This record gives sequence, structure tokens and C-alpha cells, in this order.
Amino acid sequence: MEELISRIKQDGRVLGEDILKVDSFLTHQVDPKLMREIGRTFAQKFAEAGITKVVTIEASGNVPAAYAAEELGVPMIFAKKAKNVTMNEELLTAEVYSFTKKITSTVQISRKFLNETDKVLIVDDFLANGQAALGLIKIIKEAGAEIVGVGIVIEKSFQTGRGLVEETGIPVLSLARIAGFEDGHVIFTEADL
Ligand code: 5GP
Repeated sequence: MEELISRIKQDGRVLGEDILKVDSFLTHQVDPKLMREIGRTFAQKFAEAGITKVVTIEASGNVPAAYAAEELGVPMIFAKKAKNVTMNEELLTAEVYSFTKKITSTVQISRKFLNETDKVLIVDDFLANGQAALGLIKIIKEAGAEIVGVGIVIEKSFQTGRGLVEETGIPVLSLARIAGFEDGHVIFTEADL
């Protein structure tokens, strides 16, 4: 997605060996126009797939996932990282190691929001080593729902996530794919959408 790639070139900052900071338009401050385009691009790709739910993991996945869900005209569900007192129904859970926080947390979705008739599109802001996506895949499969694809805003293709997700047989569609970082610059490889 050209617009996204230009924005990463303009505003993305490389941190250390393997982190891209995009807090001026995606992960902290949000550019709604760009998010709308991102949502549209995912929705167009999956327009004929019969998607009934978009699923992500809080917090930064929420924004692109909500825009994609709006375009598809379906609900968006975000897996929660902390249980609270209002979550008093049956929960589907998975242990997810966070690439940026370096901690493992139990992520959860209420069983009532997913069932065997659902066709799910997973959306997330980043794909690194695939732990967030694999956790969501486990939860959605446990609900008996079908996973149609994993839509990623920024994939770091030099990490293991894409391969691990594809091993499950689920296609990955990324709007920007990063081959690596060189001297603080982002090197892109061909994107899927
Ligand atoms: P994974 O589970 O694929 O290893 O990592 C994906 C999650 O970690 C994403 O949901 C995202 O929140 C975070 N993440 C991974 N890599 C980056 C990065 O380079 N920059 C930012 N801002 N977040 C990242």
C-alpha cells in the first residue's frame, strides 16, 4: 500500500536492531485518513470472503481492525490482556509473549462473541515473531470458527512470524513488508496489498 509505505519512510523511526516506531500515525497518535485507507484496502481484499467478525489484540491492533470492520460492516472483537470483574462468562484464552513488552500475558475473548458459524479476519498492526497472531488463531479455532486470513499493517519479513502463521495454512496479507533495517533506514520488500 503505497500511501502507508511513504508514511513509514517519512515518519517511521528505527529503534535498535529490529523495532520500528510509528507512534505518530499508528501506535499512539493515529491518522484517521490513513487508517480509513488501511481499513478499505483490507475490506476490498476480503469483500467476497463472507467475513462475519474482525478479531485483533489490544491495544494497537484496535485501530486498523475497527476501520476494517466498519468497511466490512461487521463487528470487531479485541482480545483483552487483563481480566476484569465484568468478564464473568466463559472465556477463550491463549498465552502470548509480547515482542515489545517482553512479558507473557494471558489474552482472552468471551466465548459468546465467537461461534462455529463465524468467518474471521484477524488484523494486527505489526507481525514480528507471530506470537500475537498464533494466540488469536488458537482462540478462534477453539471457538470452532473459520479463519479466512491474517491482515497485517506492517510485517517485518526478516522475523519468523509470517512463516509460522503460513505453516497453519492461513494466508498472511501485509500492507507493508520490511526486509530489514540498514543504517537507520527501512528497506522494503514487495507488499501483498
Ligand atoms: P509478534 O507477536 O508477531 O512477535 O509481535 C506483534 C506484536 O508486537 C504487535 O501486536 C505489536 O504490538 C508489537 N510489535 C512487534 N514489532 C513491533 C515494532 O517493530 N514496532 C511496534 N511499534 N510494535 C511492534
